[in-house]
Formats: sequence, structure tokens, C-alpha cells
Amino acid sequence: MNFTETDEQLALRAAVAELGAKYGYSYFLKQARSGGRLTELWQEAARLGFIGVNLPEEYGGGGAGMYELAIVLEELAAAGCGLLMMVVSPAICGTIIARFGTPEQKQHWLPKLASGSSIMAFGITEPDAGSNSHKLTTVATRDGDSWVLNGRKIYISGVDEAEAVLIVGRTADAKTGKLRPALFAVPTDTPGFSFRPLEMDIVMPEKQYLLFLDDVKLPASALIGDEGAALLQLFAGLNPERIMASAMATGSARYALDKAISYARERTVWSVPIGAHQGLAHPLAQVKIELELARLMMQKAATLQDRSADVGADQAAGEAANMAKYAAAEASVRAVDQAVQSMGGNGLTKEYGVASLLALSRTTRIAPVSREMILNFVAQNSLGLPKSY
Ligand SMILES: Cc1cc2nc3c(=O)[nH]c(=O)nc-3n(C[C@H](O)[C@H](O)[C@H](O)COP(=O)(O)OP(=O)(O)OC[C@H]3O[C@@H](n4cnc5c(N)ncnc54)[C@H](O)[C@@H]3O)c2cc1C
Repeated sequence: MNFTETDEQLALRAAVAELGAKYGYSYFLKQARSGGRLTELWQEAARLGFIGVNLPEEYGGGGAGMYELAIVLEELAAAGCGLLMMVVSPAICGTIIARFGTPEQKQHWLPKLASGSSIMAFGITEPDAGSNSHKLTTVATRDGDSWVLNGRKIYISGVDEAEAVLIVGRTADAKTGKLRPALFAVPTDTPGFSFRPLEMDIVMPEKQYLLFLDDVKLPASALIGDEGAALLQLFAGLNPERIMASAMATGSARYALDKAISYARERTVWSVPIGAHQGLAHPLAQVKIELELARLMMQKAATLQDRSADVGADQAAGEAANMAKYAAAEASVRAVDQAVQSMGGNGLTKEYGVASLLALSRTTRIAPVSREMILNFVAQNSLGLPKSY
């Protein structure tokens, strides 16, 4: 067990922090409020090799792991400019394709995902299924050598920026008629594929979409990997998703905490700075402790994930990734709430820029998997308790 990062990891952290400082929260906010995107930051991060740091070197990636990708997102979020699509494109989609794609699929998708020149969104959530992925009704039927996909998806992030969406659907078993999960790479310009923005009340540049798949005809090569391996593929993508959501949440928590402490050190309304009052100092110290605990679990999850890529032991990584995501979301919600509180009225002004993080920090409790579904997972898998649903 080693609790110190390598020289390479520390250098990566420092380099990403430098890039983050160049853009910062003012850039993020400006793009979010004007309906813009984080394109310049994405492109610069990609040029520096940060976006595909986890993807295989033979496809132009950095050849490192989820640990390093999480460093990138955590440092950008800590500078106030986290890139949500990193959770999706290199982490979920890149991991799944690198592990399960056919040689042609790897050759087609990985170089552009690694270079950041192309973004792939991820669509699992459906309006009527919600957290219950057993109720997914997006179905692919065979039509000769092709597939025809029909269904609806909701809350899918970044579809406007994406070349394709990795869609979680189901295929019907020809003999039994039973539906089995299957993953399809669906280019966003495929006829029959359309999307409409959802009006969200989150201050964030990346937008969420409703997807409509009406008789979307896809070549056989759109089905990722082996038809029978979809569940394994999904799990391979979901751990990175949770680790990266933790990185975004812990980074944002660091950003909010930094704002609060620099304010609390300066602002004086009695004889000492407000940070000297235990009523403010203790909750901030508590946030710091909870944040560091969350980071530790995220780092454990990423380490296990990077090892499991070799030995196929995803289960321990899954437990840690779920726990990390839970802890990171809680730390982020508390950090932002306490930052607002510590700054009094200024905590709610546009100028001080922390109130705008409130909905964003709440998002991490809901997406990509809700707090309650993580508690269900831990209750059932770690504690062996029975299921209520
Ligand atoms: C900003 C944002 C971006 C997103 N991006 C994507 C994306 O890119 N791709 C994608 O596929 N999805 C995306 N999502 C969807 C997200 O994954 C879902 O919102 C989330 O999984 C919860 O599903 P739901 O909203 O349908 O809630 P529901 O499933 O309807 O749940 C509502 C509430 O009931 C609780 N609940 C449900 N079942 C149980 C149970 N058995 N026990 C206890 N409590 C339960 C939930 O925890 C929640 O609190 C995004 C969502 C948001 C908000």
C-alpha cells in the first residue's frame, strides 16, 4: 500500500492545475450563462494529452489509468472548470471500447476519443425506467446484417457536442424472445436519431437531452464487442463513471472550500477574522476531513480499477467506486453549502460565485447513480441485506 503519488502523477497534477488556473471558474460560468461550451479548454487539455491519458498508447492515448484520468478531472474541477464530458467520453466509452471493442471498432473510435477530437456521449437512462435499468425498453432488432434501434432516452449529457452516443439497449434472443442488454455506438447524424434539449436549472455548460430513436438503422459494426458480453461491458464502464464523478465532485468541493477559507481568513466583523469563530472553523474543518476521506476512497477505487483491468477482479473496484461516489457527492454538497454560509450575503452574490455551484453539487447526489441506489448496492452487496425491490 502506498499513499504517495509517483513523480509522474504529481507532475500531471501540477500541469493540469496550471491549465485549470488559466481558465478557472470565470470561464466556466461565462460559458454556462451564455449557452456556450468549454471547447477551448477541452481542446487545449486534449492537445496536452490530458483527455485520453487513460487510453492505450497504441491508439494515441497516454497509456496510464483511471487514477491519472481522475487526477485530470479533479484538478480541473478544483480550478472551477471541470469537464463533465470526461466522465463520459474517455472514461465510460473509451474504457468499454478499449476492453471489449473489435479491432475495427478500436481502430475507428479510440484514436479520436484519445486525441479528444471526437466526443462520445453515453445513454442509458430512460424516462420510464429511471434507476431501474431492468425496465429499459430501447430495443434493437436484426434486419439482415443490420440492426434497427427504437426507444427513448432522457438526461443524456453533451449530445450536441458528440459525434456518437453509446446507447444501452436490448436485443431480442431469436429463440426465446427474451431481451438481453447490448451496447451500440450510434452516430448522432444517423437518420431516425433526433434529440431535444431539456431545460435544466443547473449552472453548467454541458446540456442534457431527450433522445428519440425511431427506426435507427445501424450496421452490424455498431454493436460494441460481443452480443453476449453487454453486462460485463456495462460494469466495465460504470466503475470508471463513478470514479470520475467522484473526481469531479471532490474537485468542486476543493474549489468551494478554498473560496470559503480565503474569505473566512480575511473578513472581520468583530475583532478577529470570522474564520477564528469555531462556529465557522469547525464545519470547514469537517468539510476538509470528509473531502479527504472521499478522495482516499476515490484513489482506492481508481487503483483497484486499474488493477482489475489486468486480472478481471471488478467487484472490489465496484464496491469502492460506489462508496467513493457516495462520499464525494456528500462532501461536495456540504462544501458548497458551507462555503455559501461562510460568506454570508456574499455567498449568494454573482460576484463571489459560490451560489451558482449549489445545483451542480446537488447533481452529484443524483447522477450518474443516486445516493439511494448506492446505499441499496452497499446494503445488498457489502452487508448481505435483502432487497426491497
Ligand atoms: C445533470 C445530469 C446529467 C445526466 N447525464 C446522463 C447521461 O449522460 N447519460 C445517462 O444515461 N443518464 C444521465 N443522467 C441521468 C441520471 O443517471 C439519472 O437521473 C439517475 O440515474 C436517477 O434516475 P432518475 O432521474 O430517473 O430518478 P428515479 O429513478 O426516478 O429516482 C427518483 C428518486 O427515487 C429514488 N429511488 C429510485 N429507486 C429507488 C429504490 N429502489 N430505493 C430507494 N430509492 C429509490 C432515487 O434515488 C431518487 O432519489 C443525468 C442526470 C442529470 C441530472
